[in-house]
Amino acid sequence: SAFEYAPAPESRSVVDIAPSYGLFIDGEFTDAADGKVFKTVSPSSEEVLSEVARAGADDVDRAVKAARRAFEKWSALPGSERAKYLFRIARIIQERSRELAVLETLDNGKPIKETRDADLPLVAAHFFYYAGWADKLDHAGYGPNPRPLGVAGQVIPWNFPLLMLAWKIAPALATGNTVVLKPAETTPLSALFFADICRQAGLPRGVVNILTGYGDAGEALVSHSDVNKVAFTGSTAVGKAIARQVAGTDKKVTLELGGKGANIVFDDAPIDQAVEGIVTGIFFNQGQVCCAGSRLLVQESIQDELLDALKRRLSTLRLGDPLDKNTDIGAINSAEQLARISALVETGEAEGADRWSAPCELPSAGYWFAPTLFTNVTQAHTIARDEIFGPVLSVLSFRTPDEAVAKANNSQYGLSAGIWTEKGSRILAVANKLRAGVVWANTFNKFDPTSPFGGYKESGFGREGGRHGLEAYLDVR
Ligand code: NAD
Repeated sequence: SAFEYAPAPESRSVVDIAPSYGLFIDGEFTDAADGKVFKTVSPSSEEVLSEVARAGADDVDRAVKAARRAFEKWSALPGSERAKYLFRIARIIQERSRELAVLETLDNGKPIKETRDADLPLVAAHFFYYAGWADKLDHAGYGPNPRPLGVAGQVIPWNFPLLMLAWKIAPALATGNTVVLKPAETTPLSALFFADICRQAGLPRGVVNILTGYGDAGEALVSHSDVNKVAFTGSTAVGKAIARQVAGTDKKVTLELGGKGANIVFDDAPIDQAVEGIVTGIFFNQGQVCCAGSRLLVQESIQDELLDALKRRLSTLRLGDPLDKNTDIGAINSAEQLARISALVETGEAEGADRWSAPCELPSAGYWFAPTLFTNVTQAHTIARDEIFGPVLSVLSFRTPDEAVAKANNSQYGLSAGIWTEKGSRILAVANKLRAGVVWANTFNKFDPTSPFGGYKESGFGREGGRHGLEAYLDVR
């Protein structure tokens, strides 16, 4: 029967989630000093997955002290020794990737297809890549014997929990820093499994500390007087607050913030390929991607043809159980994020843009939003300016390459952009004029550990990834 051919969902039984978890400090799982806990739920079912410790200022202090003690020995190790631990961590991640992919899908809501084929391979790749740098820092272009900064306080968001952790922890450890990392409150579990992997790899105590908790713990961490380096990924509002907080201290800081990426499609672009790129650009991870291609800029002469093809394609996307291997669109990460998306979509309608949503049935439990696009959008509209961080595309048109560039650059953000055209000369000419840290040509949302990533303007400063990602954790001399 047709039923027999339906691929089985990836089984939950692959992962063993404990009913409760402690903070990971100095190589041990421990309760919060004040005993506080919070629950983490699966956004696709609203089922409680586990209860985790909620860190407060005392726990931050304990963790920073552990990281400081560990720093003396860790930074004194030869790079080749640090590399061994990082290679070991990378291999364990590969060995446990099914378990981690299922865990991440349960806690975040994103499709297993993505965690299995994108998140987890990239997480391992980042550890392999930075393991390779650990004994070559003299040759990284930052002078002989560049020094680590010390204790890094790292705060990450919920959209790529394990991948953001890898972006932060791998370069920090490779360069000889030690780490206190706070995952987002809605996705604490994969960071705690990573803590277990650090133990499995025999990483010395205190080199990595994981504090689950809310924004107050993040604030206590970034303002702790013995933290030398702050690395933050999250909203622009919190990023600005952190920049104010560290101003006047000797802390180094890198910020990876929001975006409103333009995906620019010229009239000579292969339409089918562009449609796939637009879909990847804004519907990958339900659009909860800082570098999402959330503004489609399409050349006027092909607008109708492209939109027809795009709507047909969106009507075929499967929304539902994120553990099903055929699912394209998973759940929105939290009720709060769903409310934010819904409010911005209502604003789009109220300001006069035309909404179209893919016909799909939304499950009754969990947090869901159908793939949606807006036409009749002007640059003044809120949905053309504000980051929605959801599966919502704002479509604008242009006539000339200069107009496309002007519209793409008309944003407070400058994280990503995409160009679709057959002409190589046009790719280079347009890319050079775009004020964005990442420009993709005839593709979108492609990531690679060798490539630096980061924003212009209010999308933040500093770069993560590649050789440039080392600089964020080094004192050059
Ligand atoms: P958020 O800024 O609210 O939270 C991010 C993290 O910061 C969480 O761990 C949170 O607990 C912590 N936090 C909150 N208040 C804090 C404070 N005052 N001090 C220190 N830490 C604090 O963002 P979010 O809603 O979790 O994530 C979505 C946002 O993140 C989007 O705007 C998106 O663009 C951005 N983001 C950017 C990138 C990037 O690389 N540029 C990547 C992913 C997400």
